[in-house]
Amino acid sequence: MSNFIPFTRPSFNQETIDAVSEVLRSGWVTSGPKLAEFEATLSEYFGGRPVRCFANGTATMKIALQVAGIGTGHEVITTPISWVATSNVILGVGAKPVFVDIDPVTRNIDLNKVVAAITPKTRAIMPVYLAGLPVDMDQLYSLAKQHNLRVIEDAAQAFGSQWKGKKIGSFGDLVSFSFQANKNLSTVEGGCLVLNNADEAKLAEKFRLQGLTRQGMDGMDVDVLGGKDNLTDVNAAIGLHQLKQLPAYQTRRVALARQYFELIRAELKVAGLENLKLELPVENFTDSNWHMFQVVLPLEQLNCDRAQIMTELKDLGIGTGVHYPAITGFTLYKNQGYKTSDTPIAERIGRSIVTLPLFPGMADEDIGRIASGLLGILRKHYKK
Ligand SMILES: *Cc1c(COP(=O)(O)O)cnc(C)c1O
Repeated sequence: MSNFIPFTRPSFNQETIDAVSEVLRSGWVTSGPKLAEFEATLSEYFGGRPVRCFANGTATMKIALQVAGIGTGHEVITTPISWVATSNVILGVGAKPVFVDIDPVTRNIDLNKVVAAITPKTRAIMPVYLAGLPVDMDQLYSLAKQHNLRVIEDAAQAFGSQWKGKKIGSFGDLVSFSFQANKNLSTVEGGCLVLNNADEAKLAEKFRLQGLTRQGMDGMDVDVLGGKDNLTDVNAAIGLHQLKQLPAYQTRRVALARQYFELIRAELKVAGLENLKLELPVENFTDSNWHMFQVVLPLEQLNCDRAQIMTELKDLGIGTGVHYPAITGFTLYKNQGYKTSDTPIAERIGRSIVTLPLFPGMADEDIGRIASGLLGILRKHYKK
């Protein structure tokens, strides 16, 4: 279908395409001067804190755990509603993810339930800012301080988000971002970690390149087990241009999100669906970067499941996504004894959440088409 609206689509302008060509012609394509420039620019963006880039957000989080010294025998508290990378990296370093239920309004980890999950083995909290909405950062860091825990922020979706006027990443402990294709700032694939000091940055550099401590004419040495997780100059050149475009993208995302609230509420009235318990996101236009616009379907009021609603939207030329089913329901996790029923709110939301299209290149009319399309389908399946 020619006028199909995907749930997301990256935006790269001509300048970005030219910058990539320039790197490819330069004779140096992997990690080099563009990467150094991107890291320095990001560090400035985050108020001078050290920043290192990696091949993707998953590698970034893995290295954050390694820098924090988290491994075998340790527990990390996190949320079941995230991309599975969040808990996979915890398992990957030999630690155990401990899932705490979410807040149904923010859809982020419920910080009020964290204390009950802390044991002598707990080393860190790994919150996720779903759709770019941060958790209560004051509560997060007071909890961490009180219980002597590290914080590894999975801010993969939160580049450009804020807390009380401060950028996410400009304060706190270890803050991990992803630059994957769908993220608000994309380098095609990539990620960056904001660290506390130069020693941590050095350690992160070692982990991203085979654990090398030195290399060159005076010989070579390796003292920790590192991987191959560096970001290339091609990606860095894209990132430098995306950073320039970000404020305009952000303004557009906020405008589209505002339209969603207005038009969905208007359609609920028109369709006579005032009693339909469709859950909208938190209406926050200061802190969230509006990475996604997600609704939670009132499945108990409908005579069909989520897949049916998504299929009918697709038939109208509207792409949607599921971000995310509860991680504890995946076979790998079930086999380790996790149960979705241990976190019932996450279980329900993971089953009922739908991501509607939201990306800077959308047209104004798209939101109206999506809102009326969605509400028409819901009215058809409304049991009353
Ligand atoms: C995208 C994402 C990641 C992983 O990033 P990649 O760059 O895809 O490896 C991790 N956590 C969350 C919440 C994400 O959205």
